[in-house]
Amino acid sequence: MKLSSRSLPEPFLLVLRFNFKNIMSRLADRITHLSESQTIAMAKLSRELQEQGRDIISLSLGEPDFVTPENIRESAKKAIDEGFTFYTPIAGFADLRKAISDKFKNENNLDYAPDQIVVSTGAKQSIANIILSLVNPGEEVIVPAPYWVSYTQMIKLAEGVPVYIDSNVESDYKITSEQLRKAITPKTRMFIFSSPCNPSGTVYTKSELEGLARVLAEYKELYIISDEIYEHINFSGKHESIAQFDFIKDQVIIVNGVSKGYAMTGWRIGYIGAPKWIAQACDKMQGQFTSGTSSISQKAATAALRSGTEFYDAMRTTYLRRRDLVVKMLKDIPGLKVNVPMGAFYVFPDVSAFFGKTDGHTTIQNATDLCMYLLNDCGVSMVTGEAFGDPRCIRLSYATSDEILVKALTRVKESLAKLH
Ligand code: PMP
Ligand code: GLU
Repeated sequence: MKLSSRSLPEPFLLVLRFNFKNIMSRLADRITHLSESQTIAMAKLSRELQEQGRDIISLSLGEPDFVTPENIRESAKKAIDEGFTFYTPIAGFADLRKAISDKFKNENNLDYAPDQIVVSTGAKQSIANIILSLVNPGEEVIVPAPYWVSYTQMIKLAEGVPVYIDSNVESDYKITSEQLRKAITPKTRMFIFSSPCNPSGTVYTKSELEGLARVLAEYKELYIISDEIYEHINFSGKHESIAQFDFIKDQVIIVNGVSKGYAMTGWRIGYIGAPKWIAQACDKMQGQFTSGTSSISQKAATAALRSGTEFYDAMRTTYLRRRDLVVKMLKDIPGLKVNVPMGAFYVFPDVSAFFGKTDGHTTIQNATDLCMYLLNDCGVSMVTGEAFGDPRCIRLSYATSDEILVKALTRVKESLAKLH
């Protein structure tokens, strides 16, 4: 029997209402105030529509479409057979931390001893550890926009206050040292950015980084999270880290991992290189939240970091070809403003020329409306720029095959042409 509230006598309704209210109020404020990750939400929606039989092309989730290389998968199988099945040291196995220390030296010419390294369950946890360890309630964290979705939510979880610095497609989504200086107040505790950037693909040059570093170095209590997870997907020739400047290295925490460079998103391995006292704090935080991350994944990550550059060099060549294809097709769509991203696997076109337009049924007010319109009209899913702090843009990930990209962007072009 289907129960409708109208069929229930009043006393039952009262009890139901009381319980519903109680259940709702049992959630803590920190979770009700937390937004769902929009990248993950959009990917989930695409999957659900696909399951309902809709022909959906998902360009929403930022995840390599390559399978983890075989030597890495083999090392994981070996780890299982050798009995690496126990709890691991909180900060990670010694051999993995040594491999990371060597990676910093060989690839970045940076000195981080193993006790300055903490391995976590993805770079996402690395960032959460640092923010929770360094930011007090009410302290400000400067976030250049557009930014990766999770930064702001983690800052709010720590009861910190995100302070945004805007950029736009015309400035290649870069901020200047002057903008940075203006945003700093006595309450500023941290600056967080990614280069190569998710969602814009922007890569800061060495001299631009030095300009930012000179400003930040004037404030010794200000710490910098340098998110370098897209290090190996960089088309500018050489990855530059803000930690390379000696005058600021003690203020920098590098975040990196194997998710993007080695196509290992599901293995959940991220890490930091940091001043020792910050590494110790993250170790303590992680010791209460998750303990050391998966033993099998750590062995796989060690193999990845010891396996040379061949895999990511080949992957980067493929991404570069796709970038050129996507940028060319997007530039061919009237109304879109596109920069040429120098890294990662995203393009972040400005779509504001479509605001106020309609297909006769739907009027597009903002980037979220445009994403929903494209999803409904042509079955291509992308993520609204609102999630990344720029409501004029949408993000698409080109970590998929050339054929799919051509099909998706042909459809997008046709759908956008219907708007007037
Ligand atoms: N930082 C940025 C900029 C990212 O795009 C991602 C990918 N989700 C992460 C951090 C987290 O990566 P991981 O898979 O290692 O948690
Ligand atoms: N980095 C990816 C993205 O931005 C993965 C999703 C996430 O972790 O939020 O799409």
